[in-house]
Amino acid sequence: MIFDVIIRRANVVDGTGREPFVADVGVRGERIVAIGDLDMAQAAQVVQAQGRYLAPGFIDVHTHDDNCAIREPEMLPKITQGITTVIVGNCGISASPVKIVGEVPDPMNLLGESDAFFAQFDAFAAALEAATPAVNVAALIGHTTLRAGVMDRFDRAATGDEILAMRGALRQALRGGAIGMSTGLAYTNARLAPTAEVKALVEVVGEEGGIYTTHMRNERETLFEAMDEAFETARHGKVPLVISHLKCADVENWGKSEHAIDKLEAAAREQPCNCDCYPYSACSTTLDLWRVSDQFDILVTWSKPHPEQGRRLLSDIAAEWEVDLTEAARRLMPAGAIYHNMDETDVRRVLSHPLTMIGSDGLPSDPNPHPRLWGSFPRVIGHYCRDEGLFALPEAIRKMTSMSAARFGLTDRGVIREGAFADLTLFDFETVLDGASFVAPTTPAIGIDWVMVNGQPTWVDGDVRNRAGRLLRREAVIE
Ligand SMILES: [Zn+2]
Repeated sequence: MIFDVIIRRANVVDGTGREPFVADVGVRGERIVAIGDLDMAQAAQVVQAQGRYLAPGFIDVHTHDDNCAIREPEMLPKITQGITTVIVGNCGISASPVKIVGEVPDPMNLLGESDAFFAQFDAFAAALEAATPAVNVAALIGHTTLRAGVMDRFDRAATGDEILAMRGALRQALRGGAIGMSTGLAYTNARLAPTAEVKALVEVVGEEGGIYTTHMRNERETLFEAMDEAFETARHGKVPLVISHLKCADVENWGKSEHAIDKLEAAAREQPCNCDCYPYSACSTTLDLWRVSDQFDILVTWSKPHPEQGRRLLSDIAAEWEVDLTEAARRLMPAGAIYHNMDETDVRRVLSHPLTMIGSDGLPSDPNPHPRLWGSFPRVIGHYCRDEGLFALPEAIRKMTSMSAARFGLTDRGVIREGAFADLTLFDFETVLDGASFVAPTTPAIGIDWVMVNGQPTWVDGDVRNRAGRLLRREAVIE
């Protein structure tokens, strides 16, 4: 057989959790067609692995790349990490279906200005396919986006008519290929949505065979109640659940991860549920008054009225303005920030749990982004797996590949096996590491040497050579 590409003598870490093994991997068209000893086979192109590891392309299950995939289709923050598929539309905010006139409501402004949004999912899908991003994209529909599409104000529950309209818009998007729905119930513009409103929408997700992800109503003092709400909502809709970026925010809540994990495990015995996590003890989102605290550093990343204050500590700005932190925040908003509000022990406990997938939660529109945007996946391998020994390499890779593909219904992805799509990442286990830091947040990763998407060599010698990503439309989510 003649192959398009053979990767020779790679340490194959196949994504399933199995121990690495040395093999040649042959690719023809968009698929892996042979794994084993291909010494006698010919190929148009040969990549010598030379001791490096070949993994399934990483799947970033938690992103806000809706608009980035269209406007910056090279997707540099992702392809440089070995990511070959992103799930967009998390935290209740998606680029469709909504028409925005004027100021973009918080936190939808994390996706961009009003021209980042599409009235129909079909229009978003068409724009994405026309842009042909370097990585594959699967899209969730955001609850806050649905609200913005039908409600004149957010400080109340949706009416019966509004719920009907949201159900219709959601169903249309799911039938157009969206893979599920997300909520961001902690945010001011979704907080007054009662559980019943969310349940009415999740019913539609269940009927159409999608998934439900949630940035829960609370990650602080009522974390456990918020988890119960998420489990109950998902059970009501008969949908698989992913708790987004499971964390214990603010000093008073440090240590709660132990019981949170117990709850997740207990729920997982009764219903399909997982969580995602990024490998840092600081979070990042919009600046909001209720998030302001003097117990940890808050780094302002952007501000509409005061762009010159980007990359400065809120406490320094407040001191300079001779006001308290809350007043400084009020003057800066709308704004974005990084909050150093988590405990490393909690982060490790969640990150290492077998039900946890890796999601960056990176914010590509932020001019001073949290380093998770450029660094999450190599940091999990280089820092937490190799240097800290938090888990073995096969488990680190499983959290980024096969578990994610199975949970999100991405057929024939997330594993290296014959017949699977040739989404592949070749990395140097000795050197792989995140390059991005809080000081230099857009520095590319180290040690991610070669990345293939749908059979096309894409990240080669430090350049994007192809853009072969596609929109992955919903198929039935596999249990
Ligand atoms: Zn979130």
